[in-house]
Amino acid sequence: MWNLPRGRRKQRAEEPQDAAAAAQRKRRSSAVKRGTSEEDVKAIAESLSSRLIPALGLDLIGLQPADIKDLVYSIVSSLAESRSSKLTEEAAMKRIVAMKDNVLKAVSASLLSKGQHLTREQLEFIVAYAPEMAGRAAPYLYREALRLKADDIIDSLRSLWSQYGNPTPVECPRCGFRAVTPDLTCMVCGAELSEGEIKKHIGLEKVLESLATRLHPRLIEEIASAGYVVLDDDVKPPSLAPKQGYALVLHLSRSEREILQKLLNSQGRAQGAGDQQLPSGSQVP
Ligand SMILES: [Zn+2]
Repeated sequence: MWNLPRGRRKQRAEEPQDAAAAAQRKRRSSAVKRGTSEEDVKAIAESLSSRLIPALGLDLIGLQPADIKDLVYSIVSSLAESRSSKLTEEAAMKRIVAMKDNVLKAVSASLLSKGQHLTREQLEFIVAYAPEMAGRAAPYLYREALRLKADDIIDSLRSLWSQYGNPTPVECPRCGFRAVTPDLTCMVCGAELSEGEIKKHIGLEKVLESLATRLHPRLIEEIASAGYVVLDDDVKPPSLAPKQGYALVLHLSRSEREILQKLLNSQGRAQGAGDQQLPSGSQVP
C-alpha cells in the first residue's frame, strides 16, 4: 500500500492542479466505474511501471518496476476516475511525465518510508527532488550519508534541516546540525553531550569575556550570582531566558565565574574613572 509523503498537504496547497494527488484520497472508497475497467487500470499500471523506470531516470537509482508499481497504480487509478472516457496507456504516460516533479517526490517518500540502507545515488535523488522531506528526515539521512562517507551530502542536509526540519538554536559539536535539545542530546546524531563539550564548542570563556560590551553590568552580576547562563542563539542571563523553545542551561565553573568577577571589578574601576562607554545608570557595588 502506497504511503503518501508527510509533506503532502503542503505539496497539494502549492500545486492545486495536481489531480492525481487530490484524487488519491478517495481512490479506495470509489472503485473505477467509469470508462476504464479495473482490469484496464491494472494492465496500464503494470506496463507503465516498466516504461517509467527508464523514462524518469529511476534506473539510475537502482529501482525496478516493482518498486513503483503501487505508486503508478494509484496515479493511473486516479486518472481513470477523473475522466468519463476510457483512459489509454499513452494518455496516462503523458500525464505522469507532465507531473514528473510530484512523481519523483512520491518516489523519494517511498524510499524514505522503507527506512532501508540507501545508495549514494538514492541519497542524492531525495535531496534533489524532495528537499523538504530530506530536511525532516535528516536524522536518518545523516546516518546513511555518514555510512557512505558523503560529506557533501551532509553539508546539504545541515541546511535542509535548518530550513525544513526541527532546528534548535544550539549546534551539535559532533555532527554540526543545530539539533541540541535542553537535555543535551542531539536530535540528529543522537549524541549525549556534556555541558563541557558545548561550552568548548561555543567558546564560552571568550563569550563571557565579551559580555561587558553587550550586557548591562547588573545582568552580568545576575549571571555571576546565579552561577549559570541560558544558551539559545546567544548566552543570556537567567532573567532573559526565552519562555519557550530549546534554550539550555550551562552551569559556570569556578574559572568562568572568575572571568565575570574580573569584568565586574574592571567595570567598577572604569566607572570610577568616568568611562563614557558604560551604560548610564549602571551600578556596580
Ligand atoms: Zn549531533
